[in-house]
Amino acid sequence: MKFGGTSVEDSAAFRNVAHIVNSAGPERIVVVVSAIGGFTDALLSSVEQANDGDARTATRCLDQGFERHRAIANQLLGGETKAQFEAALADARDQIRELHKIVAAHPSTHAPLRDEIVAFGELLSSQLLGAVLRENGLAARYVDARRLIKTDESYGGAAPLRETTIATQAALGPLIEVGEIPVVGGFIASTAKGATTTLGRGGSDYSAAIIGAALDAREIQIWTDVSGVLTADPRVVTNARTIPVLSYQEAAELAYFGAKVLHPKTIQPAMDCKIPVRVCNSRAPDEAGTLIVTSSEAAPQTIKAIAHKSGITTVQITSARMLGAYGFLRALFEVFGRHQTAVDVVTTSEVSVSLSIDDASALPELIRDLAQLGAVQVEERRTIVSVIGEGLRGTPGIAARVFSTISDINVSMISVGASSVNLTFMVDDARARETIVRLHRAYFEGEGSAHPTEMVTAEVRA
Ligand code: ADP
Ligand code: ASP
Ligand code: MG
Repeated sequence: MKFGGTSVEDSAAFRNVAHIVNSAGPERIVVVVSAIGGFTDALLSSVEQANDGDARTATRCLDQGFERHRAIANQLLGGETKAQFEAALADARDQIRELHKIVAAHPSTHAPLRDEIVAFGELLSSQLLGAVLRENGLAARYVDARRLIKTDESYGGAAPLRETTIATQAALGPLIEVGEIPVVGGFIASTAKGATTTLGRGGSDYSAAIIGAALDAREIQIWTDVSGVLTADPRVVTNARTIPVLSYQEAAELAYFGAKVLHPKTIQPAMDCKIPVRVCNSRAPDEAGTLIVTSSEAAPQTIKAIAHKSGITTVQITSARMLGAYGFLRALFEVFGRHQTAVDVVTTSEVSVSLSIDDASALPELIRDLAQLGAVQVEERRTIVSVIGEGLRGTPGIAARVFSTISDINVSMISVGASSVNLTFMVDDARARETIVRLHRAYFEGEGSAHPTEMVTAEVRA
């Protein structure tokens, strides 16, 4: 059971988590928890502040966050446990202060130190939740996640190593065996040498999936602040609604293409071990949420959701040298590899290639090297919109319907069929909201066009 930042933002939320874990009854449970809401952002900006040379302000900026932990402990813990947690909090503050000083003295060399500092978010929330659960009569036990998840040294976005399975089983198996409930911080891990690493922003979902897979869990539950995976981002479409069932592939595509509710890497470990993933609302635990399973179980085979990712940069390279030549794409992708820039969407013609990138921090170097291969054109502030569903496999008319719904909006880089459950295209950031709202209305709202199942059936008949 993984609880995200908003599910542990204050003492009422902690109390609520205790209630949800308690209601799981005789199940054998592992709890994974994120940092309390907003604290990871605060920790990250404190590192930036220290990097700018002001270690004292960097540490002081975290005082409000420490105070929030203290307030929760004050309200939910009694005597000795409270004192123990307060000591842990003071110790964390001291360690962070020392780390800030090192960062300030050696600016721009701080990737490992940043992970060391940011990890305190999950280290504190998991110790606090362990104590709160015990206070509520549950046999909870805090376990340091760095003993379980072993990674490479890619600080800020580390990849788990094979040792993780055995380490997780060895650390958690005996506790579960005797009826204890391990409470583990998400997002954090360590290298073979013991240095702290993190799995990338939003990575607690991934931690839960890694631990679930290592233990061959019956189910991986992601408890968040919305009732499951919705038909669109609720911040854009106010009446987005819960999708009852998704296939692994649908869920993975949704996560890759911007649905923040799941970290993009969450699905793989679950799919490898065929473990269902359930996304539930910690604020409305009785609501059904979303179940993610194999495609054969994920009926109906329809259009399920619209995902989007804004602030994207697209790069187009045009060169007549591409015509009939081989090795050109290899040379092109080598440039992106050299500058460690991940490419999301690719479309090609005989003489040009368009690519989209999420992280444009190496753009000047990319443009310089790509210019050796052809004419380079860059467009910024673009949005990737993806229409996702198993219904795209072999259902005629879906593309026609998507593009006729937004026929007055300029689209580019259309990609369909590459994943078989995803139709993707680009629009300007400025028209993204309108695009998504209109597609949502066409596919998921209103009378005539409302029901996706009917729509697919009608199109198949046609
Ligand atoms: P947590 O702190 O629990 O990990 P996140 O903020 O990472 O929560 O993810 C939940 C948020 O994801 C929701 O509040 C919602 O704003 C956003 N979101 C974006 N797209 C979707 C979607 N398709 N379905 C549900 N939530 C979405
Ligand atoms: N606390 C981390 C973050 O904010 C990990 C997570 O919440 O999943 O990115
Ligand atoms: Mg999240």
